[in-house]
Amino acid sequence: MKTRIAPTPSGFLHTGNAVSFLITYCLAKCVNGKLLLRIDDLDRERYRREYVDDIFYSLDWLGIQYDEGPFSVSDFEKNWSQHHRLKIYTDALQVSLENDWVYACNCTRKELITSEGNAVYHGKCRNLKNSFLENSAWRWKIKTDTCIYWADMFRSQIQINLFEQMGDFVVRQKNGLPSYQLGSYVDDLHFNITHIIRGADLLTSTAAQLYLAKCWKATAFQHIHFGHHHLLTDENGQKLSKSAGDRSLKALRENGQIPLNILEIARKMLGLPDEKIETTEDLVKLCIAYKPFLNEKI
Ligand SMILES: [Zn+2]
Repeated sequence: MKTRIAPTPSGFLHTGNAVSFLITYCLAKCVNGKLLLRIDDLDRERYRREYVDDIFYSLDWLGIQYDEGPFSVSDFEKNWSQHHRLKIYTDALQVSLENDWVYACNCTRKELITSEGNAVYHGKCRNLKNSFLENSAWRWKIKTDTCIYWADMFRSQIQINLFEQMGDFVVRQKNGLPSYQLGSYVDDLHFNITHIIRGADLLTSTAAQLYLAKCWKATAFQHIHFGHHHLLTDENGQKLSKSAGDRSLKALRENGQIPLNILEIARKMLGLPDEKIETTEDLVKLCIAYKPFLNEKI
């Protein structure tokens, strides 16, 4: 069994990230699995070395030990950056082109907003037979009745109509880089991941990635166990963002706080009884005793 935490160095981590990491760590410990730290840095425009450093400081502060992955900013840049795996992504994109799974979309951002109004793209360019230009986005063709199912570790059975929820999603961005969906899918296969914990905001992404796996007949990915936890929100019910200054883990650390409050949130989210926990190890012990994960099998 192998799971991963996959933060993006595009801002300082917040308590929502910490809770997700803790739940993933607990799962790994419950089943004697391995934990990979994968830092997703495809987006180099928002990348800053101090955000990568913040990931290392945060994991250390939270008491999370991982088995594989970078241990410093220079180790990350030298050996682990997603930009070292560009060939794997472009090879995957090439296969998708040869199989006629994708089409070129040259819609501008403005056109997308005015024609679609939201994140769902229902195939405006699909029949235009656009040429694949250097700066074309590539979109995956989704049939209207594409339903994706899986048994979630926290939610039992999930069913998502991918066409309605996401439409023809992008796998290659206009800048030539893989989209999040493709990059994450390829990486999870590449690193032999078997279990993934993520927030409920990524339910449709999971459906998209499972569909990629189905087209590629990537059974290893199709067998991954997924668990989608509730999202932490602020007092206005909004999803936390990496720009939320005083909620950042960095601010908490610098104020000398210990992560008790975060451990409590993780305990409640896992539905564990109200027992005293003071450290991450206490949380792990509680998990081992009460087994909060469905399908916790290897
Ligand atoms: Zn288009």
